Amino acid sequence: MKKIAVLGSTGSIGTQTLDVVRNNKDIEVPALAAGSNVKALADQIREFRPKLVCIAHEKSISELRLLTGDLNYEICCGMEGLIRVATYDVDIVVTAIVGMIGIIPTIEAIKAGRNIALANKETLVTAGHIIMPLAARHNVRILPVDSEHSAVFQSLNGEKHTAVEKILLTASGGPFRGRTIDEMRNVKLEDALKHPNWNMGRKITIDSATMVNKGLEVMEARWLFGVEMEDIRVIVQPQSVIHSMVQFIDGSIIAQLGCPDMRLPIQYALYYPDRKPMNSERLDFAKLGSITFEEPDMVNFRGLAMAYEAGTKGGNLPTVFNAANEFAVDKFLKKECGFLEITDMIEKAMGCIQYIDNPDVAQILDTEKAVYELLR
Ligand code: NDP
Repeated sequence: MKKIAVLGSTGSIGTQTLDVVRNNKDIEVPALAAGSNVKALADQIREFRPKLVCIAHEKSISELRLLTGDLNYEICCGMEGLIRVATYDVDIVVTAIVGMIGIIPTIEAIKAGRNIALANKETLVTAGHIIMPLAARHNVRILPVDSEHSAVFQSLNGEKHTAVEKILLTASGGPFRGRTIDEMRNVKLEDALKHPNWNMGRKITIDSATMVNKGLEVMEARWLFGVEMEDIRVIVQPQSVIHSMVQFIDGSIIAQLGCPDMRLPIQYALYYPDRKPMNSERLDFAKLGSITFEEPDMVNFRGLAMAYEAGTKGGNLPTVFNAANEFAVDKFLKKECGFLEITDMIEKAMGCIQYIDNPDVAQILDTEKAVYELLR
């Protein structure tokens, strides 16, 4: 039996990971961590019988105990608990938590020699220069879960790094593709939450609407695949069937295609290098009819342009970009700011926060704090 731990088990990636576990009978889940959805976590404990469970806040423990009093397992909480789950004796830790809170548990998991199935892109965006060398030192695999990065990973199978010319990251363009800034001035939260192809957590859905998500993915790809920012090209492919591609030095392009279903890249990461059968919709080219392409609109979707700037300048700028986005998206989700203010806040923070070259973890977390203080 393969053993996995899941950080963020009650979220979109977390529940789909557990769906993959449910559909295969050869994975155990001895450790789970979630935020505040006590009811969903209790149901997961009943079904998957973990030995260790982390819940974000101590105050939720009594409610969790009440719902699962007949079951025998250990509860922990907070960052200490997340680290215990991340370092539990398993084959793979799935980092499906949202935001920079994932950095420290991921680092501790790597130090403990655990392979990582990485969904939590914010960790690589802000600390990729620390995470990737650390993983190499500990002989740990970082297996991408993001569909685009899984597509690149699959396209690179058996290829030499030196043969790669460009990474072509596809983007759906989100719900506001084709709109101008003026046309997005008054968009509502409910509209931004309607992604045309993917059903995801709330934060990443907003990130897709601003195209900040694609910017984060470019920075994530740069660390995962050891390429320069300028070697990653974003191409809009609204049907979301080409999940991404690699262009090689002889002009060949290898792509991975399929119906939009996150369980596929999750399952691929959990069983890599093997493929397992999956009972899911198959892509029917005749029904699809056409696949179309566009250049990304970096003028009206400034988040993508700013991500390229942050990734190219490096240092703590990707952290500034990411932290400002996390702050702003949280405000937008609470209806405390408008849609366009998200990129305004990123721009403001990138212009104000002091640049630090090659930041360590403490400096990354200090930068996050400084961004929050500035924007508050
Ligand atoms: P969700 O918001 O759906 O889920 C986030 C998870 O993190 C939930 O289980 C939540 O718990 C948990 N969580 C939040 N805060 C804490 C905390 N303090 N301690 C422990 N757990 C916590 O997010 P997604 O699943 O959409 O995204 C997760 C990550 O994966 C993000 O980095 C995202 O960018 C990335 N990703 C997501 C994709 C998708 O299709 N959804 C695709 C590719 C990447 P609770 O709900 O109980 O509060």
